[in-house]
Amino acid sequence: MFLSDRERERKAAILKVESEVIGAAREFLREEGFVELLPVIVAPLTDPLRHNTDRALIEAYGGHWHLTRSMIFHKQAAVGVCEKIFSFSPNIRVEPPDWKETGRHLWEFVQLDLEVRNGSREELMDLGERLLVYVLSRVLATCRAELEALGRELTVPTRPFPTFTYREAQRRFGDDYEIALSREARTPVWIVDFPIDVREFYDREDPERPGILLDMDLLYPEGYGEALSGGEREYLPERIRRRIELQGLDPAQYRALLSLAEEGLPPSAGFGIGVERLVRYICGLPHVAEARLFPRVPGELSLI
Ligand code: AMP
Ligand code: MG
Repeated sequence: MFLSDRERERKAAILKVESEVIGAAREFLREEGFVELLPVIVAPLTDPLRHNTDRALIEAYGGHWHLTRSMIFHKQAAVGVCEKIFSFSPNIRVEPPDWKETGRHLWEFVQLDLEVRNGSREELMDLGERLLVYVLSRVLATCRAELEALGRELTVPTRPFPTFTYREAQRRFGDDYEIALSREARTPVWIVDFPIDVREFYDREDPERPGILLDMDLLYPEGYGEALSGGEREYLPERIRRRIELQGLDPAQYRALLSLAEEGLPPSAGFGIGVERLVRYICGLPHVAEARLFPRVPGELSLI
C-alpha cells in the first residue's frame, strides 16, 4: 500500500463514511425487528446467476464447495426460523476481466442481504426507500467534513421514488437501459415487472400475469447504476422445479433446494444492496474499488 498523504486522507474519508453506512443500516434494520445472521461463506449450493460469472469452488473433505455468490437460498431457509433477517454477506463473483471498466464491479464485494417471511414486493420497496433515506440522512449528519473533503454534494431523496416497468425502461432506453436511465434520473428510480426470461428462477412469477415477475431493481441517479435487486420468491417445490427447467438448468443440481421446498419453505420477499456501490454513490466515487481498502478488481492482481 503505497499511498500518498492525499490519497490516505481520501481513503480515510471514504472508509469513515462506509463505517457510518454499515452502522446506520444495522441500527435501522434492528429497529425494524430484523435479526442479523452471520454470513455463509462456503456452501454446496449458491446463486446460479444468469450472467457471465465464473464459478469459484474450493475442495474440502472430498467434496466441492461454492464460494457464496449470494445468500439467496440460505435467506429463504432462514426466514423459516426468524421472521426478518439480514446479513452483511461477502460475495465472490469472478466477473469478466473487462468489467473492471464499468466502475461498478468488484469480484469480492459485500451485499447487505435481507429477507422477510410473508413479505410482499411493495413492503420491501417501502423498506428499501426508508433504509436508503435513513442511511443518507445519517451520513449527512455525521460525515459533513468527509463529504466536503471528497467534494460531494449529497441530498436526501424524497419518497416515494418514481417507478418504471422493465418494458417502459426498455422502450425508452433500450436493453441496456441501466446507465442511460440512471444518468437521466434525479432521484433513485425503481424498475419493476421483469420478464421471466431475463431473471433468475427464484424470482416469483405473478400468478395474475404469467411471464411477469414480482421483482424489482433500484437504480441510483447520476449514472451510478444499479443499487439493489430483489423481489418475492418462488417457494413451492413444483413451481421452483418448473422455473429451473425453463432456464435449461438441471433440477438434480438443485436437489437440496427442492427438498427444502418439499419440507416447506415459507413465502418471502427480500433484496440485496451492494455496500461498496452505496458508498460509491454517497461519496461520488468514479470507481467502486475506492470503497475498499483491499479491492478485488476483475482481472487485476493484488499485492495484499
Ligand atoms: P444481484 O443479486 O446480482 O442483483 O446483486 C445484488 C447487488 O449487489 C447489486 O444490486 C449490486 O448493488 C451488488 N453487486 C452485484 N454484483 C456486484 C459486483 N460485481 N461488484 C460490486 N457490487 C455488486
Ligand atoms: Mg441485480
